[in-house]
Amino acid sequence: MPIVAAIDTGGTKIVGAAVDEKGNILKEIRIPNTERNGSFIMDTYRKLIWELDSEYEISAVGIGAGGRIDEESGTVLYAVDIYKDYIGLQIGKILENEFAVPVEVTNDCRAAVIGEHWMGAARGAKDVFGIILGTGVGGGYYTEGHMIRGYRGGNAEIGHMILHPGGKKCLCGQRGCVEQYVSGTALWNLYRDKKPEATITSGYEFFNLYAAGDETAQKVLEEFVNDLAYCIVNAANLFDPEICLIGGGLADTSEYWWDKLKKTYSLYGNSHTKNIPLVKAAQGNRAAILGAAKLAFDVLK
Ligand SMILES: [Zn+2]
Repeated sequence: MPIVAAIDTGGTKIVGAAVDEKGNILKEIRIPNTERNGSFIMDTYRKLIWELDSEYEISAVGIGAGGRIDEESGTVLYAVDIYKDYIGLQIGKILENEFAVPVEVTNDCRAAVIGEHWMGAARGAKDVFGIILGTGVGGGYYTEGHMIRGYRGGNAEIGHMILHPGGKKCLCGQRGCVEQYVSGTALWNLYRDKKPEATITSGYEFFNLYAAGDETAQKVLEEFVNDLAYCIVNAANLFDPEICLIGGGLADTSEYWWDKLKKTYSLYGNSHTKNIPLVKAAQGNRAAILGAAKLAFDVLK
């Protein structure tokens, strides 16, 4: 049975895993993403593939990477400028030459949607729009048997849809992007906007405050639910999917907001979008790893 190496490039850590055809994760290695530049990311990919290959004899590699990717060539087309020496990087080509196995590269959020479709909550769906809430916000649209790529690898980039015109400045250069309001980072940033003396620096601390009944946190989460509901209604109108999938690291906290989101979504939507079910992701942080593995298996067929 072939085994592939799957990699998920997160904002804080890069995870590599050996995965079999049934989606079993046989081994997982985590390396902190400390530098966010092209050569560090490539060296980390090399380390992960090398280590997994020495134990499992890898048949192919799948990578979920940051930014917009030309999936045909495995090249980075665009990324926000916190990444240095990254745009233009030929990730797929370089690693294929070095390891002599096929290397497939996609955006990390798109990988998460593929993973949920392969082994998670969107399994069996013919048509899925996925919104992935993590450090940032991304998305992916699966229909007619494949993911839609877009001309420049940017299809379903819902994180940079403008939600509040003239609002908070985004890393992409626009103002008022979704990512500035409904990501994990946004929650504690918005909290600090309302309470400048606060020192929280993580979504984890934010939800601790929320659970303890902190008033500002209640208010921020209420706004988050509203904003997320608007995003999903817009996406539902734009894509008309069979289901809307909500995933990413932030979905792990959904016990605090899922029921409210469903209510708000049906309140803001029209009689058409109301019928589109909201589905919570099932694979958590493993979704992108599974999606990257699926891409690698697909190329072996
Ligand atoms: Zn943006």
